[in-house]
Amino acid sequence: MEKIETLFSWLDHTAEIIEESQDEPYLDCLAHAMEILFHREVSNIDDELTIKKIEKRLENIDLNDFQQKDIRKAVQMAILKGMKDNIQQQHLITPEAVALFIGYLANKFTAKQETLTVFDPACGTANLLTTVLSQLNKSVTAYGSDVDPTLMRLSVANANLQKLEIEFFQQDSLRPLLLAPVDLVVSDLPVGYYPDDVNASRFVLKAKEGHSYAHHLFIEQSLTYTKEKGFLIFLIPNFLFTSDQADQLRTYLKEHAHIYGLLQLPESIFKAKENAKSILVLQKRGQDTLTPKQPLLVQLPSFKNEKAMADIIGQINAWFSKYL
Ligand code: SAM
Repeated sequence: MEKIETLFSWLDHTAEIIEESQDEPYLDCLAHAMEILFHREVSNIDDELTIKKIEKRLENIDLNDFQQKDIRKAVQMAILKGMKDNIQQQHLITPEAVALFIGYLANKFTAKQETLTVFDPACGTANLLTTVLSQLNKSVTAYGSDVDPTLMRLSVANANLQKLEIEFFQQDSLRPLLLAPVDLVVSDLPVGYYPDDVNASRFVLKAKEGHSYAHHLFIEQSLTYTKEKGFLIFLIPNFLFTSDQADQLRTYLKEHAHIYGLLQLPESIFKAKENAKSILVLQKRGQDTLTPKQPLLVQLPSFKNEKAMADIIGQINAWFSKYL
């Protein structure tokens, strides 16, 4: 905890120093501070006093003193501080406990594979993606994409500080991607309407009238960029299968995927009940894929309830032994 605190306060204080001199939002200044720490060079600041102050701070920090998980958590704390006041609900960082749980599932679903390609089409700050990568004990090639330039800058700096190799695309992920289909998609889907009706018209899951749901289009796009038999692990809103366009989505999924799991997260993690989410696990259909005999259907207890959590993990592990 002490290490995490030390690195968090270095990042936070450096970001504040940059904020005072550059007059930019905190999250951009945080990304700038992370870049300075990674390159050990104060660039893109023209005020001498600020440069001197940060150079002095650089003398007191060495990245090699920190483990990857400490770096991830310190960065996470600083990003959370920056997101507290001024960010839209659907752009929030994926919470640590949820990201760790998705990492555990990713490891289980891909246990038989020795190498893996992984993609997060809505990678935001890359917290979910890097948390998953840190748990996959195999050789992995990773890709992330997001439309938001500040979050993308944070993503790149986050991956660099954690010494993780990830190829990033800064673009609307619902447009064509320069990416070959991958083995695994993990994503905390943006929820809401997608404003670009012209681009939406390329998708089977476009709305019959008005704007389409971004979360539906993201599922279709992710399946397009997944290999046959590949798995997709999404964080979805609880209302995904009850909304007005749910029938269309269900029909599409029946044709293109197998539902392997639906795990409802405890409502206590989310600020409002309406924002509560579940984890949906799909497998892309292929020539010799089969509908699972028994999908993994779970209501997760509070992550703080260690006993109940251990029981559920026991049941989930038993499910994997029996059905996968
Ligand atoms: N997993 C991320 C993390 O740990 O930081 C958080 C993902 S957040 C819930 C959803 C992300 O979707 C946001 O970062 C937002 O910028 C991105 N997004 C929304 N619409 C997009 C689009 N059309 N193309 C690419 N990214 C998009």
